[in-house]
Amino acid sequence: MESTLVKEISCEGSADHREVFLTGMRCSACDRVAFPRQAYGCEQCGGTEGLEALDIPAKGVIVASALVHLHVRPEPAVPFAVASVRLDAGPMVRAILGELGLKPGARVKGVIEPATHVEKGLKAALRFARAES
Ligand SMILES: [Zn+2]
Repeated sequence: MESTLVKEISCEGSADHREVFLTGMRCSACDRVAFPRQAYGCEQCGGTEGLEALDIPAKGVIVASALVHLHVRPEPAVPFAVASVRLDAGPMVRAILGELGLKPGARVKGVIEPATHVEKGLKAALRFARAES
């Protein structure tokens, strides 16, 4: 299965100061920001017109997290942490954290790492890592 998430990620800036963006959308009728971008309609008002692509900074706060000790695939290697992250722009995303021990309330940002996954077509992986406030 090909990953669609990686196609929706873009980076700007130098290698040392890259900022990761997720391609989401904004509804021009009600200004709702959502991720991922889709054409079914606005998740708030239901409108199907005026859904514009929007690059959302991959920055936010951990709302909940869990450690995974048993996983059906060989990668990512266990244990790893998954989290629900409330992006500063509003949408909630679920992501793998780049380190263990990050707790709810911690500020995180998206980082691109070389893929270690065995699935075909996956060249890079999005992780969320500790960010300065
Ligand atoms: Zn709307």
